[in-house]
Amino acid sequence: LLEIVTSVPITINGQTCLLELIHLGDKRASSTSLEHMQRLTITDCLTDLYNRRYINEQLPIDLEHSFRNSDPISFIYADIDYFKKVNDQYGHVAGDQILKEVACVFLGHIRRKDGWVARYGGDEFLICLPEISRNTAVQIANRLRRAVESKTFYINEIQLKVTCSFGVQAVYKASGIHSANQVVEAMDKKLYQAKKKGRNKVVI
Ligand code: GH3
Ligand code: MG
Repeated sequence: LLEIVTSVPITINGQTCLLELIHLGDKRASSTSLEHMQRLTITDCLTDLYNRRYINEQLPIDLEHSFRNSDPISFIYADIDYFKKVNDQYGHVAGDQILKEVACVFLGHIRRKDGWVARYGGDEFLICLPEISRNTAVQIANRLRRAVESKTFYINEIQLKVTCSFGVQAVYKASGIHSANQVVEAMDKKLYQAKKKGRNKVVI
């Protein structure tokens, strides 16, 4: 017994494919494979971080939850500096490797209970930190910035240094931010400032 439950279009590296969730006859097998498939729809296939779909679903939920409980919630937006140069100099496969390793650095510093880490797209990452104040988020962003800066990346035997720029946005009830789009817009501006200030910076 095989039955298609739902199918969703997903885009991987510019190619759109159809991901089909299939219901198998065996109940136990079907629930685990269904969970696995559901997990795939919210996972970035290169870095294994959460993907844009997850951001679109989860960010409004976490935002709403923090408003309801009058809790702060903080966001860190990160973008690799001069990443095009990495691709140009070492090739796209090397670029992919750097993306994966930067993702690992971020994951290694964010405990699961503190929040979630996602790839927003390209060389941009979004970290959501529910119940975390601005000061703590800034400390975390600086920790991430230093961790990337101090890491030596290897492309075959060639050593490579990479930095990231960061925007930190804390959202409180009175911060004037009410929607997920407003969060992303605000962080975009801060990231732009971090780039303008010379990169490898955290802008609050
Ligand atoms: P800036 O410091 O201003 O951020 O400079 P940048 O070169 O990093 O510029 P930008 O962030 O605009 O460019 C991102 C580049 O990331 C463009 C694209 O070639 C590359 N890129 C996006 N997605 C992928 C990917 O999945 N793999 C690889 N290897 N490169 C990617
Ligand atoms: Mg970049």
